[in-house]
Amino acid sequence: MTFPTSIIRVAFLWALFFTTAFAADKSIPVLCYHRCGEEVKDSMTIKTKAFGEQLAWLMSNGYTVISLDTAAKYIKGEIKSIPAKSIVITADDGHKSVYSDMAPIIKKYKVPVTLFIYPSAISNAKYAMTWDQLRELEATKLFHVESHTYWHPNFKREKKSLSKEEYEKSVHAQLYKSKATLEKKMGHPIKYLAWPFGIYDEDLLVRAKEAGYEMAFSIDNHNAKAGLNNMTQPRYMIIDAYNLKRFESISSGKEDK
Ligand SMILES: [Zn+2]
Repeated sequence: MTFPTSIIRVAFLWALFFTTAFAADKSIPVLCYHRCGEEVKDSMTIKTKAFGEQLAWLMSNGYTVISLDTAAKYIKGEIKSIPAKSIVITADDGHKSVYSDMAPIIKKYKVPVTLFIYPSAISNAKYAMTWDQLRELEATKLFHVESHTYWHPNFKREKKSLSKEEYEKSVHAQLYKSKATLEKKMGHPIKYLAWPFGIYDEDLLVRAKEAGYEMAFSIDNHNAKAGLNNMTQPRYMIIDAYNLKRFESISSGKEDK
């Protein structure tokens, strides 16, 4: 039996109406931090005091910090609504100052934070947190660990310097080994990825999807939203050189292109 074309057309229009009417229309600034400190020793560090002021500003200006998972589900249309002024906080690399400087502020304001971690550094590099510290942070229910590849490669450089075969092997390891290690160490599924140095290309986006990541994040300085490639949803890197005015401008979506 075949359906008359008119019925198919009406069904199609209804489907289109429903997907459009309930589409995730809000865009979300996703902030990317690295480390905090009393002094700014490098471009990845922001003064602990400034981080505290930014959180205080968000709280007193009606923002709701939502988890990265909530934002991703909203973008994918799996949940239908989020608060009006929603914003996401992430911190990359697992630096020990996340534990010493950032965590007390996060606990004070009780907001969710996603930590993008590359497992090779944890309980290994001097600058990094330990697995116990990561588990302690997750036990607060405020922090959540996701993947930042296995050892934070520069894929652009590797693609040039390695043979095709070596590069393929490396990409595979970075995506799969990181996910498997973090799942084993943290005891929960790893669904999200942050591209090291914000570097990606079309091939890597396909690879990340194949490896089972549901969404991946870059640092392309605009808001995350439905309709963009989910393997490269953008974030804003927050650096110490930004004053509170610039932070307000990012958070309020004024800098979204
Ligand atoms: Zn990083």
